[in-house]
Amino acid sequence: RNALMWFRNDLRIRDNKALYAASMRSKVGGTGNNHFLIALYIISEEEWAEHDEAPVKIDFWMRNLVTLKASLDKLAIPLVVKTARKKTDVVKVVEEVVEGMGVSHVFWSQELMVDERKRDRVVREALARKHPSVYVEEHEDQLVVPAEDVRTKTGNPYAVFTPFYNTWCKLVETESHYLEITEMSDANPLKAKEIYVEYFKAKPPSSHPHPLDVDEMKRRYPAGEDEAHARLDKFVQEKAKKYHQGRDVPHQDGTSMLSPYLNAGVLSTRQCIVAARIANKNKIQSGDDGLKTWIKELGWRVCLLDWIRAFQPKTERVQWTDNNEHFQRWTEGKTGFPIVDAGKQLKATGYMHNRLRMIVACFLVKDLLINWQQGEKYFMNNLIDGDLASNNGGWQWSASTGTDSQPYFRVFNPLLQSQRYDPKGEYIRRWVPELKSLTDKQIHDPSQALSPKDFAKLGYSKPIVEHAKAKARYLEEFKRALGLS
Ligand code: FAD
Repeated sequence: RNALMWFRNDLRIRDNKALYAASMRSKVGGTGNNHFLIALYIISEEEWAEHDEAPVKIDFWMRNLVTLKASLDKLAIPLVVKTARKKTDVVKVVEEVVEGMGVSHVFWSQELMVDERKRDRVVREALARKHPSVYVEEHEDQLVVPAEDVRTKTGNPYAVFTPFYNTWCKLVETESHYLEITEMSDANPLKAKEIYVEYFKAKPPSSHPHPLDVDEMKRRYPAGEDEAHARLDKFVQEKAKKYHQGRDVPHQDGTSMLSPYLNAGVLSTRQCIVAARIANKNKIQSGDDGLKTWIKELGWRVCLLDWIRAFQPKTERVQWTDNNEHFQRWTEGKTGFPIVDAGKQLKATGYMHNRLRMIVACFLVKDLLINWQQGEKYFMNNLIDGDLASNNGGWQWSASTGTDSQPYFRVFNPLLQSQRYDPKGEYIRRWVPELKSLTDKQIHDPSQALSPKDFAKLGYSKPIVEHAKAKARYLEEFKRALGLS
């Protein structure tokens, strides 16, 4: 009887608990004819559409699936790629593979989102009903330590990041949580292919159509574990020590750019922590300022993943404006606020710097009073690193609607943000070329800095709102919604 590893958002062979367990299982009893480890990936376009996945992200995942297949081939583990036309067909696909390939054990890494957990429950129940002897093993492999250990004294999840992080760090520091898993199977793919040849007809698609420059995206985000590790090592060796200084400066290349790899599971959070910890002389919360700040950001990622498991959309009390023209201008980078408009980086590259994500999110919600969920969806539709938990967390933090968000009365002033984080306008010049010729002083607020005649020559939008008035309107509405007025 064979073991099946169902890959989902864990497209890696190293440090993958479920794959490791599956490979151990396939070794039990030797490598006789009937004892293979088979890998499965299911493509579900309906799931992609429902989750607003960006075409550029799907393309990145498909490219990584190809490199995963090559790595699995080397380990003698054949990969079956199946398509589920509808989301509900996923269960049928798993059943077919289990029946058709003589599978007795199914392994997967747990996905933490509500929809995915529901899907897994349905699969598990269907298998239990029709194939009661099939054993399903699910591994939680994203939170680095068992979530049930990161709890308050009363056993509840933390509602605030800092105590979550302190407890999580203590657990991460214990050696057992920090080991990487490396050993994999030596099942025989040729025999498996001979027997189940019809299952191997579908190859992973090597790309997915998207509107950006295909070669440029391959160059920026090459696929594969080796690439991800090279990027991680380079970052930890060369840049991480200055991370605390450079991470907030959008025009600098001061962050790791690892988010697409982390979200596809090409790299694990544990692997990042291991690398950073080694560089930081085994410390997590102390030691080098850059490394410890970076580890803390990884802590945010884990915390938001843990929170999303309990995610329930909040009752909406705020009355948002339905200003579609303002929303369009925000997406097109035509708000007349240069730093906000520099967020065009997203549409052009599939990525946006974290400081910019905060600035444009705050602007949409607080200056334009547009529902943050519209922005959340727009981000998902365009981000190569789109991730429900981090994106939702980031938006709710910016919109002051989440559990541990910035307070509602904190409203970024776009002009001050611009002067502080892009003082020489380098980032603005890169993404808003109309303003290229302006001085470092003029560039942050051209409609005020230039005469009307000179401003008109730029061909750049006038500010679509007056910040002070917009702020007052937002505060009034939020106070009303929160019952404070
Ligand atoms: P680095 O600064 O090198 O950080 C390393 C890793 O830590 C990141 O790859 C990421 O996994 C994690 N991380 C860093 N900052 C955060 C954070 N604030 N919250 C959660 N995890 C973090 N991140 C996503 O991965 N996907 C999203 O869809 C996403 N949407 C966001 C939306 C908004 C409105 C905001 C404010 C933030 C969002 N983030 C999202 C978080 C953050 O912007 C990105 O993780 C970061 O910019 C990725 O770049 P990097 O890999 O160079 O990060």
